[in-house]
Amino acid sequence: LPQQIDVLIIGAGAAGLMCAAVAGQRGRSVLVLDHANKVGKKILMSGGGRCNFTNLYTSPENFYSENPHFCKSALARYTQWDFIALVEKHGIPYHEKTLGQLFCDNKSKDIVDLLLAECRAAKAQVRTRCSIESVKPLGNGYRVETSLGPVQCQSLVIATGGLSIPTMGATGFGYDIARQFGLRLVPTRAALVPFTQHKRQLERQQELPGSAIPVTATCGAGSFHEQMLFTHRGLSGPAVLQISSYWREGEPVSFDLAPDLDLAEWLVQQRQEKPEAHLHTVLAGFWSKKLTQHFLSEKGIESRPLKQFSPSELAEIGMALQTWQLVPAGTEGYRTAEVTLGGVDTDAISSRTMECKTQPGLYFIGEVLDVTGWLGGYNFQWAWSSAHAAGEVV
Ligand code: FAD
Repeated sequence: LPQQIDVLIIGAGAAGLMCAAVAGQRGRSVLVLDHANKVGKKILMSGGGRCNFTNLYTSPENFYSENPHFCKSALARYTQWDFIALVEKHGIPYHEKTLGQLFCDNKSKDIVDLLLAECRAAKAQVRTRCSIESVKPLGNGYRVETSLGPVQCQSLVIATGGLSIPTMGATGFGYDIARQFGLRLVPTRAALVPFTQHKRQLERQQELPGSAIPVTATCGAGSFHEQMLFTHRGLSGPAVLQISSYWREGEPVSFDLAPDLDLAEWLVQQRQEKPEAHLHTVLAGFWSKKLTQHFLSEKGIESRPLKQFSPSELAEIGMALQTWQLVPAGTEGYRTAEVTLGGVDTDAISSRTMECKTQPGLYFIGEVLDVTGWLGGYNFQWAWSSAHAAGEVV
């Protein structure tokens, strides 16, 4: 390892590699260290292997933080369009899947290769399998002891991400450094994570794993109109992952099971058009047979030909079936969560540079900060934008 370097970045993930490339292009000498055996593991596994690298509609409203204003400056100065231009410069084919989500046509490795090519062009060095033993402030910089020897740097950038997927190398290192320098941490929680359900509920749902339907999931201030998937342990799918970020233990989540329809009105209309048809047959054309049976039995509704219900009875049934409220038993936790909510309190950090206000030369970027995006490419955009902001000044 070089003993002296201008910029030392800990964590060779999305934010760390981006920051290294930007700082290196300014002529700074840069070293990135990571304890894992290869760089960008989360990029490689992201987006089902195709990396949802940004979102066309990225705006500050797509992020949660105790300070919702914090992300604005960095997102405005390095936008989704800037990253798309970089992807195009590298000739990486991509497409919009849905809701502005941009994915690689081929594989996530294209994005890791892009970052490594940018680092090479900027002469930034990247070393893996290097653990960090201690960090000490010097008069004008930091001394970092590592398993590959000591390094002194002027700027130290912490880009070690959050706690999700510990088997991929996630650690609380960034939070430990924050504590060492007396910074406050916003309590962390697994987010973008499936819900688990109680055994009794799962027994009643045992026919359903694999079934998916569009829903609107609502909890607190969050409301998402996307797919929900029944699993063997509970509920998943984009609507559930999104709403998990708004959920707290013990709270109910409500699902509109027919978000594009007024089920009460629709059933009354069906009665006029098909009076002989059974309620369950009509509903099975809308949901599936399995889901219909389940929802009817959950609400204790017996199926009969539609003409045997009065219009007001059908309207009531429609309303009862439309909404499903449940209190999840919990979440799958960091084992499968896509991100960590909370992290280094942004009050202590400059939103323009990502530098710690009380500790000159110390920077935090990416997921380690208390900035968390929705599902859909927003978390990578935060990594690119925050890394760029720091890369321009370190
Ligand atoms: P990371 O990319 O996690 O990088 C942190 C790096 O620090 C890692 O290389 C790690 O090895 C290293 N490190 C950690 N601790 C230490 C230590 N003690 N010493 C040395 N090195 C250390 N977001 C999207 O926007 N789109 C997606 O499609 C998407 N899909 C995802 C799929 C999965 C399964 C998961 C888990 C996440 C997904 N995310 C997605 C979220 C996204 O991957 C993260 O938000 C993003 O990678 C955060 O970037 P980062 O650089 O801050 O941290």
